[in-house]
Amino acid sequence: MPEPDQNTLARRKDIIAAMRDIIPTPGGVIVDDDQLRPYECDGLMAYRQLPMIVVLPENTAQVAAILKYCHTNKIRVVPRGAGTGLSGGALPMADAITISMMKFNRVLDIDWDNRAAVVQPGVTNLGITRAVEHEGFYYAPDPSSQIACSIGGNIAENSGGVHCLKYGLTTNNVLGVEMVTIEGDILRIGGKGLDQAGYDLLGIVTGSEGLLGIVTEVTVRILRKPETARALLLGFNSSEEGGNCVAAIIAAGIIPGGLEMMDAPAIKATEEFVQAGYPLDVEALLLVELDGPQVEVDYLIDRVGKIAKDCGAVYSRISESEEERLLFWSGRKNAFPAIGRISPDYMCMDGTIPRGRLSEVLTGMQDLSKQHGLGVANVFHAGDGNLHPLI
Ligand SMILES: Cc1cc2nc3c(=O)[nH]c(=O)nc-3n(C[C@H](O)[C@H](O)[C@H](O)COP(=O)(O)OP(=O)(O)OC[C@H]3O[C@@H](n4cnc5c(N)ncnc54)[C@H](O)[C@@H]3O)c2cc1C
Repeated sequence: MPEPDQNTLARRKDIIAAMRDIIPTPGGVIVDDDQLRPYECDGLMAYRQLPMIVVLPENTAQVAAILKYCHTNKIRVVPRGAGTGLSGGALPMADAITISMMKFNRVLDIDWDNRAAVVQPGVTNLGITRAVEHEGFYYAPDPSSQIACSIGGNIAENSGGVHCLKYGLTTNNVLGVEMVTIEGDILRIGGKGLDQAGYDLLGIVTGSEGLLGIVTEVTVRILRKPETARALLLGFNSSEEGGNCVAAIIAAGIIPGGLEMMDAPAIKATEEFVQAGYPLDVEALLLVELDGPQVEVDYLIDRVGKIAKDCGAVYSRISESEEERLLFWSGRKNAFPAIGRISPDYMCMDGTIPRGRLSEVLTGMQDLSKQHGLGVANVFHAGDGNLHPLI
């Protein structure tokens, strides 16, 4: 942690007074240690630091006034959404103001004709789907933290999830933002269409970890829910065969709605925890979801089944009902807590490798695991080569 700037800390009283002028609402400026404590870290809990103060603005004008004041007076700021980030983006600094965006929690407009939803940045990822599902729509990017994480945080981290292989990451689903620059200027970038004239500034903002400004309004694309979705469990005698099957499915031109893989330690821990019906006598399990019109899904299920057989699959089971499809997924979605049950702690790595080299990387990891005497369970978004070894 860098040494805090003493000059800033010496001005803390004045800074608090200035923030209270901007946000007069009771509770809008947090200064006591016990109330600052919940903000001391994000999902990267190995690092903790109390912020100098926390402010909770309620509108764009307040955000602009805060940033203008901080820029003029050379005070650092750290934007914060729900604090679920795993890379320490919302980790406070002792000489900085944490700006929590969680009071920006309203859905502002649903534009069915343009298939767009306009929301405030503190709305949760799942909250967007909840707001449009009664008309058969949803918001596609689905990080596992979607029940809690905010769309503002998703933009800053360009978050992805199971459905991103087919439907894209946050960057492919955000159409426009209103944001306040670090200097305190209010900007509008993009709109309700897929592409805007000029430089792709939205592409720069998405994934910029809150370093370019604070997003105060978001317009996202909403999609029609697929008519049908079915999941397929495929078991293999080696991770290598499972990895090869992933590459073969994609090479055949099939883009599943979800394509996840787990190795034997992850399968065992998960099955003991949620009883999702996973086979315990395989070394690798693929969970493939195919979605779309019924006739297309039936055809693709058949094709993927054949590809898997050619790749050496020794187990195959197709979900026969919506309950069963959700049960298959409940295993994958509970894999992390399942590992937490069998080990006092674990380190989760997050890396992406070329899909075609999955089996090579998995074999290499097994060798390293033996060499260092450390257990590794692998759970990953196989379709886009995003690995999560849990060490
Ligand atoms: C159990 C668990 C599972 C997860 N699964 C996934 C997953 O599948 N995929 C995935 O991508 N991530 C995943 N994550 C990580 C995390 O949930 C995402 O990165 C998420 O987007 C963070 O959102 P947040 O609201 O919690 O942001 P925070 O953690 O509060 O902040 C994250 C970053 O966003 C910035 N920020 C927040 N709000 C704004 C704003 N309005 N304007 C500008 N910058 C802002 C912050 O400064 C920080 O840099 C997971 C985390 C957990 C704990």
